[in-house]
Amino acid sequence: MNNKFETNAIRTQLKRSQNQEHSVPMYLTSSFVFEDAEDMRASFAEEKDRNIYSRYSNPNSSEFIEKVCQMEGAETGFAFASGMAAVFSTFAALLESGDHILSARSIFGSTHSLFTNFLPKWNITHSYFKIDALEAIEKLITPNTKMIYAESPTNPGVDILDLEALGKIAKRHKLILVIDNCFASPYLQQPIKHGADLVIHSGTKLMDGQGRVLAGITVGRSALIDKIYRFSRITGPALSPFNAWVLSKSLETLAVRVDRHCENALKLAEFLEGHEKINWVRYPFLKSHPKYAIAKKQMKAGGCVVAFEVKGGLAAGQQFFDAIKLLSLSANLGDSRSIVTHPASTTHSKLSAEERAETGITDGMVRVSVGLEHIDDIIRDIHQALG
Ligand SMILES: *Cc1c(COP(=O)(O)O)cnc(C)c1O
Repeated sequence: MNNKFETNAIRTQLKRSQNQEHSVPMYLTSSFVFEDAEDMRASFAEEKDRNIYSRYSNPNSSEFIEKVCQMEGAETGFAFASGMAAVFSTFAALLESGDHILSARSIFGSTHSLFTNFLPKWNITHSYFKIDALEAIEKLITPNTKMIYAESPTNPGVDILDLEALGKIAKRHKLILVIDNCFASPYLQQPIKHGADLVIHSGTKLMDGQGRVLAGITVGRSALIDKIYRFSRITGPALSPFNAWVLSKSLETLAVRVDRHCENALKLAEFLEGHEKINWVRYPFLKSHPKYAIAKKQMKAGGCVVAFEVKGGLAAGQQFFDAIKLLSLSANLGDSRSIVTHPASTTHSKLSAEERAETGITDGMVRVSVGLEHIDDIIRDIHQALG
């Protein structure tokens, strides 16, 4: 189809049933039935492309996957019960004992825990690179390096990584490049265009956008997705059909929602930039962002997350949180409700003080996921809390 992003997000849907429904129904079924013995045999032998059991595939999940593939320019994909199920299953399906992953240092906290606490059980090791020093990556590549892993923008520091440069390094060394594109959403950035082999999302964030369901998805090259599918249909991390239905509906409004998130976030960042109680503010589409040019090159807009540091360190940070009235103190992001978090004491508390410092997380750092409330109300609440 040659339709644009917004049109595909709305018009990609399952074939109508005999009921001629306008909106796609939920297929809340664990299994599917067969015509006869031969149909069943051929289906299990994969001579037919059809649904057998919802741990393998389900119509609602297939619709969700199809939409995300169109958005990301991917060949195919698999949908998971959570973003972390997508991350883990992607590693588990593609890596062997003895393999090595090269990962950006600034990554989601649970992914960091997976690298350090669990993958070593299967003799899968990792090294971290700083996203400011891409030239240094090639020195970290070993004969058993198989994959490069990164996020951009990063959480919680909203740093930007040059995807095109990373894509070239991965290609040169024949490594699988996996990008967690959750912070940008497929509306703002499509890593496959820049050389990524696989793209992972937590559907829990901007994709659902209303804080209702957990979900994850991996899309990309079909040879790799086939391995992920084979692993997942046996181990069972599949997305529930109900959540797939919710998400597919959410994607219909992704473009309009993310446009407003970004408009609000930029306004908040601009407001904070001049504020006397703030040491610094970070937002990819602020001219003061060190990677502003790269952000402009690879993203349509700056995303929903703004990071800043309140003057006065930990105590001032905690005072700020206690004074917040409208915004939610919560761990999610990409929600219609604006959310403030304190990474040092919550999402990144499992990191050592040195690890936090390396990823740019200071004691007074605040992360705001800017929601869809009126921007005047968001700014007013943050302004009064800073006071
Ligand atoms: C939230 C998040 C995840 C994990 O997703 P869940 O749906 O919570 O399991 C992974 N990566 C990033 C960047 C995230 O923000």
